[in-house]
Amino acid sequence: MTDLANLGTRRQPMPRPATLDEYLRIRPQMIDTTGAPLVLTSCESCKRQHFTVEPCAAEAPCPRCGSAAGRCRRPSGHAAASWHAERAAAFEELCNTREAAGLPQVARWPEPTQPPAAPTLFEWDQP
Ligand SMILES: [Zn+2]
Ligand SMILES: [Zn+2]
Repeated sequence: MTDLANLGTRRQPMPRPATLDEYLRIRPQMIDTTGAPLVLTSCESCKRQHFTVEPCAAEAPCPRCGSAAGRCRRPSGHAAASWHAERAAAFEELCNTREAAGLPQVARWPEPTQPPAAPTLFEWDQP
């Protein structure tokens, strides 16, 4: 595990949103770990919209279902509604590693998080 004590202390300027609607409303005000506004990109690799500073879903394949696409897969082969917990944890770890290496990442919410169960934005369906 990455040493979380080395990571930046800059936090989002608003509380963690509770719903997708709230998230979409505050998204334009979200910042990265240097305080710069986040920029959304429509990613060709994972066919999702995500912030330019975020690792791509394709870089965080799922340890459980093996999916490297934007969505995890159910055993039936259909796309799952949210990422498997193992993948969310692996993604979080990837973000932490990059931040520790000096790359800006999405700033954390002001509320304390409890790794490795720290929820990521991927738990919500993208519109
Ligand atoms: Zn991507
Ligand atoms: Zn999965």
